[in-house]
Amino acid sequence: LAARLQGFGTTVFAEMSALAVATGSVNLGQGFPDTPGPAEVLDVARAAIGTPLDQYPPGPGLPVLREAIAAHVQRFRGLVYDPGTEVLVTAGATEALAGAMLGLLDPGDEVVVLEPLYDSYAAGIAMAGAVAVPVPLRPPAVEPGEVSTAPWTFDPDDLRAAVGPRTTLVLLNTPHNPTGTVLDRAQLELVAELAREHDLLVVTDEVYEHLVFPGSEHVSVAELPGMRERTLVVSSGGKTFSTTGWKIGWVCGPAELVTCVRTAKQFLTYVNGGPFQPAIAAGLGLPDTFFAGVATELAGKRDRLVAGLAAAGLPVVSPQGTYFATVRVPGDGLAFCRELPHRVGVVAVPMSAFYLPEHAELGRDLVRFAFCKRDEVLDEAVARLTA
Ligand code: PMP
Ligand code: GLN
Repeated sequence: LAARLQGFGTTVFAEMSALAVATGSVNLGQGFPDTPGPAEVLDVARAAIGTPLDQYPPGPGLPVLREAIAAHVQRFRGLVYDPGTEVLVTAGATEALAGAMLGLLDPGDEVVVLEPLYDSYAAGIAMAGAVAVPVPLRPPAVEPGEVSTAPWTFDPDDLRAAVGPRTTLVLLNTPHNPTGTVLDRAQLELVAELAREHDLLVVTDEVYEHLVFPGSEHVSVAELPGMRERTLVVSSGGKTFSTTGWKIGWVCGPAELVTCVRTAKQFLTYVNGGPFQPAIAAGLGLPDTFFAGVATELAGKRDRLVAGLAAAGLPVVSPQGTYFATVRVPGDGLAFCRELPHRVGVVAVPMSAFYLPEHAELGRDLVRFAFCKRDEVLDEAVARLTA
């Protein structure tokens, strides 16, 4: 294995999903829904298969999808992007993020990133030869058997201290995986202030933009003054439309920055997902009530699982957004997650996987459970955990 990729073995998601299958466990590890997405989306993909849409789409993505992405981001964020030059379709948000790192960073550049961090970030930064500089997000205190609704949060001084002479980019994620925290306007203002002061680029991963629960509001840092011009906004259809296997993602930003990502993308996948592109375009055009409904339904699932985890005696942090609730376990989270399927038939993921190797200790006793599952599946998991 190349030196750049030392330490990046098999992802914990793959390991835990395989363990779920092997043990017949309820899989609350990898975050993917277990019900199909909206018929308005699925029907378009079905109809597209067997047509010329099976062939290579244009490099930046089908115009119908780029236009739908631009209209969607204008509707929900008030941001205007030119679908011709400022929108790029990618193979999931994963490729948009890796492409941004490869297209924007030089070896030795520093990337400020909230930790815990989604596992592909550290790999993307490493593949670009750059260096991740973590800013810790810390969980609220919570007693066993209780639920905290306070968010994981960072200390503004830690963020300020992370920016140095080699910093070129801040990589944000809101709503945040794995903590479920939704960054508020004041936190984003601080990022914006630092970015403007130090002339930094920002890449913001907003794949959970519609999975935000009552009481919280999704704000994109690109909406703040002086930020659109230095920010790439990354999202994906996977979570919003329950199509995580389709891998239709995108990035919006000023043409100059989007071109950097496109340059990398051309030689990673070139293009992707022909028949799925018009389908995601149809989804992005669904009425506001659809998007609100996604969040409302998921909020109910959050409450169901969070109450069940607390009933099982765990200290639980209830998230403001995403698919995930986090708990502290007695002892080692990785050992706990490797044992749980055999002991009770439930799979979760250890949060040590979301920390840089040198900080794995910070996440050692933390575990993430996904609640994007049918109610009966959540109930079964809770019954097994409380038994
Ligand atoms: N970013 C975050 C924070 C995620 O949780 C995920 C999905 N697990 C991705 C990116 C990847 O999205 P996609 O499947 O569209 O590549
Ligand atoms: N984003 C999902 C999660 O965090 C899926 C991750 C993956 O399989 N790479 O669970």
